[in-house]
Amino acid sequence: MKQYENRNWLYTMYIEKNLSQKSIAEICGINQTIIHRRLVRFNIPRRKFCGRAGKYSSNWKGGTYKNPQGYIFVLQKEHPRSWKTKPYVPEQILIAEKYLGRYLLKAETIHHLNNIKNDNRIENLYLFPNESKHQQYHQNLRRKNILPITKSNLFSKNG
Ligand SMILES: [Zn+2]
Repeated sequence: MKQYENRNWLYTMYIEKNLSQKSIAEICGINQTIIHRRLVRFNIPRRKFCGRAGKYSSNWKGGTYKNPQGYIFVLQKEHPRSWKTKPYVPEQILIAEKYLGRYLLKAETIHHLNNIKNDNRIENLYLFPNESKHQQYHQNLRRKNILPITKSNLFSKNG
């Protein structure tokens, strides 16, 4: 019998090990749609696809959540900012890193230009070298010492 015909095996891989349908299909050397059909047949709850897969590094496993402050967190087990007890990384960090082609430094932090915390389009993200510079910016803004930054320092339309 093939592994993916076994509900327990499939349950372990998909739910307990949190592998994606794509990863399981690769392990079995079959098409992803077959895995999807088995999950449906075995009544194993599917994670939402979200249309985000592939946007991040290959260790994408399909988990996101929004925290009370409105930031989106993405399951990333192998990321330097990820902890064993909390393997989630803010989405804006991942988007910026993907765009820059490098991990952000520990101190570096991302500001949302339009203040919408889940608007993680690259053109809405602004990189501060550290959190104190970021907070200083917000303080200056509150005191009306400066005009708001409106242009991303990561993304430019001209490339
Ligand atoms: Zn900010």
